[in-house]
Amino acid sequence: MGASDTQRGPSIAIIGAGFSGIGMAIQLEQAGFHDYVILERADEIGGTWRDNQYPGAACDVPSHLYSLSFEPNADWTRLYAGAPEIQSYLLGLVEKWKLRDKLRLGEGVERASFDAPRGEWQLETSRGETLRARVVVACCGGLVDPAFPKIDGVGSFEGPAFHTARWRHDVPLAGRRVAVIGTGASAVQVIPEVAKEAEHLRVFQRTPAWVLPRMDEVIGEDVRERYAKSPLRMWLRRMRVFWTSELRGPLIWLDSERLSGLGERLSRDWLREQVRDPELRKKLTPSFQFGCKRILISDDYWSTFERPNVTLETEPISRIVPDGVVMQDGTHHQADVLVYATGFEVGFRSAPFEVHGLGGQSLSEAWSEGACAYKGVSVHGFPNWFFLMGPNTGPGHTSVLVYTEAQMAHVLGALKRIRDEGLRYVEVKRGVQDRYNEGIQRRMQRMVWKTCQSWYVEADGSNHSLYPGPASEYVLRARNFVAADYERARF
Ligand code: NAP
Repeated sequence: MGASDTQRGPSIAIIGAGFSGIGMAIQLEQAGFHDYVILERADEIGGTWRDNQYPGAACDVPSHLYSLSFEPNADWTRLYAGAPEIQSYLLGLVEKWKLRDKLRLGEGVERASFDAPRGEWQLETSRGETLRARVVVACCGGLVDPAFPKIDGVGSFEGPAFHTARWRHDVPLAGRRVAVIGTGASAVQVIPEVAKEAEHLRVFQRTPAWVLPRMDEVIGEDVRERYAKSPLRMWLRRMRVFWTSELRGPLIWLDSERLSGLGERLSRDWLREQVRDPELRKKLTPSFQFGCKRILISDDYWSTFERPNVTLETEPISRIVPDGVVMQDGTHHQADVLVYATGFEVGFRSAPFEVHGLGGQSLSEAWSEGACAYKGVSVHGFPNWFFLMGPNTGPGHTSVLVYTEAQMAHVLGALKRIRDEGLRYVEVKRGVQDRYNEGIQRRMQRMVWKTCQSWYVEADGSNHSLYPGPASEYVLRARNFVAADYERARF
């Protein structure tokens, strides 16, 4: 790095323009780092909120917390804003901070390798270009690529068939028989909406989920005006939502029969209120421990099954056929439209593309026995490379953005060090990373997630997705860049 670099700070590449990439860019602007680009493989920013535009798509964390603390929004019209409103918020931030000039849309990174003598990452992009940046902030998201079920015949359906994250708004549902596979977080939002339109809706459930009331509400214009006039009032609302979710956290994450029992009782009461038919209630009652899979919130999911045009199927699926779904008992259900509400490939714990660090080692190899990063942010052997939403940074109980903001602060701390000391690179020490992850996995033993199979855990039961503790504790641990935890290489 030359003298002018030392003054300006290193050049930076942000990969991904979802919530974390946009938030990181704003933080860079605020801290005076202007030499950066944002590479985004899609044609527009927004990540999750660009992709998930299915009917009913909304945040399941109150919007005053599910937004950036340094960009509060007085205008949320609902407690739980819908996907279009969240996407507008992100687009508004891009305009406000003039980030279009920094964005390279439709350009994904395909391979990254570290040039140690120069202290520089080389990024090969989908446009065949090679970009050089001193520091990379990978903001590639945790749940991005749609996952399709491993069922025979997927792809053989002859009518319109699509994933919730690739909703076909051009396909009318009125007067048609719609089949939805999956009953997770996306399904509980889309099912009540599809039921309102379709002639008949058939839901294929493999595992019922614990559901609690959402208690969504409109935020009136008078309240929004008050927030606009008083940032303090808005901040207090955010704090109230945050600390309420923190207090409830142990109910959701601890492997405690007493706490889980309490959650299960609340959910069963809600089911009794929503569904009168005892047979149907039985089919909808989960058998796994409360919190082991994501707790779903909905005001109208369970009651939807009492509609005359909705049927719940609980027999395992045998195969998909050109005109419908065949069950293991041989029953053949015909459908005109098939919706996969079957979740995502989990990106929290795998290399987003080929990444080669010091000595050419690959990130996939470094993570072959499970993804590990220091505080979810940095990985030994991969200097000047930082993750937002890396391994073990997912929450089960609150807004993921609380975690990403702490990670942004950590990255800024590193950038300031690199700039102020004119460093070639910083690399987290092996021992520091190992001790941190041993602690994480030790604490995991007390968490409920090990008691069932879900996308949170690997096939061997290890968990490299979630943080085993309160968000507030993670923030205190992660937000500071502690120089002693890193090797610092000079030119
Ligand atoms: P998900 O929670 O992983 O649910 C996938 C569903 O598909 C599950 O019910 C699963 O059943 C079912 N499934 C998968 N393979 C199947 C098969 N072969 N046969 C039958 N059913 C099958 O996915 P998601 O609903 O898209 O949610 C994923 C995550 O995204 C959530 O956990 C949450 O973190 C996030 N999300 C957030 C929001 C929000 O409002 N903020 C909204 C949607 C999603 P099993 O349970 O048996 O595996």
